[in-house]
Amino acid sequence: PCRESWSSASSDSVVSTESGSSLYNVVLIGGNGVGKSALASIFAGAEDSMDSDCELYGGQICEQTIVVDGEIATITLLDTWDCQEQGSWSQEQCMQAGDAYLIVYSITDRDSFEKASELRIQLRRARQSEDIPIILVGNKCDLVRCREVSVSEGRACAVVFDCKFIETSAVMQHNVQEMFEGIVRQLRLRRDSKEA
Ligand code: GDP
Ligand code: MG
Repeated sequence: PCRESWSSASSDSVVSTESGSSLYNVVLIGGNGVGKSALASIFAGAEDSMDSDCELYGGQICEQTIVVDGEIATITLLDTWDCQEQGSWSQEQCMQAGDAYLIVYSITDRDSFEKASELRIQLRRARQSEDIPIILVGNKCDLVRCREVSVSEGRACAVVFDCKFIETSAVMQHNVQEMFEGIVRQLRLRRDSKEA
C-alpha cells in the first residue's frame, strides 16, 4: 500500500492562518471491531502533520494540525466510543463532544451497518436541531470477498442519514486521508454559512 503525503493536494498552495475557528472535535462512533481504532492510528501517524499530540488518554484522543485546501485545521480525533472502563468517556459524553462525527461500519458485517442507523438516530436525538457534519464510513473495503453491504446500500443509507458517504480501508490506507479532508470541508461549509 502506498502512503501518500498527507497534504499532497495542497502542498504548493499558500497556507492561510487567517480564519479563527479551525479547531474541531471529530468523534469516531460505530460497532465493535469495525476499524475505528485502526482509522485513528492512521490519523495519529499522519506523516506531514504540522503539529501533533497523540499521547492524550493512551492514544484514544489525538490532536493533529493538518492542511486542507491550503488552510490549516486542528482536529482532535476522539476514539473514545468503546471506552467502557470506569472514569473514562461515556457514550453520552461522546454524543455531546463532537463538532462532527464519523459513523463507521464494516462492509463485511451487516450488523454493524444496522448499528450505524441506530447511532444516527441516537445522535439526532442527542443533538436536536443542530446541523452536525457526519460521514457514513464503510470500512474494510479491501475485504471484497467478505462483503455483506454493497456500495449502493451504503450510499442510499447516507441519503437517508442526510450525510456524506465514503468507503475506506484502514489496512490499505485507502480513502482515509480523503475521509479526514472531507470532514474538515464539511465543517468549513457549516462555518462559512454561519458567517455569511
Ligand atoms: P474498533 O473496535 O472499531 O476500534 O476496531 P479496530 O480498529 O480495533 O479493528 C478491529 C479489527 O479489524 C482489527 O483486527 C483490525 O486489524 C481490523 N481492521 C480494521 N480496519 C480494517 C480494514 O480496513 N481492513 C481489514 N482487512 N481489516 C481491518
Ligand atoms: Mg477501538
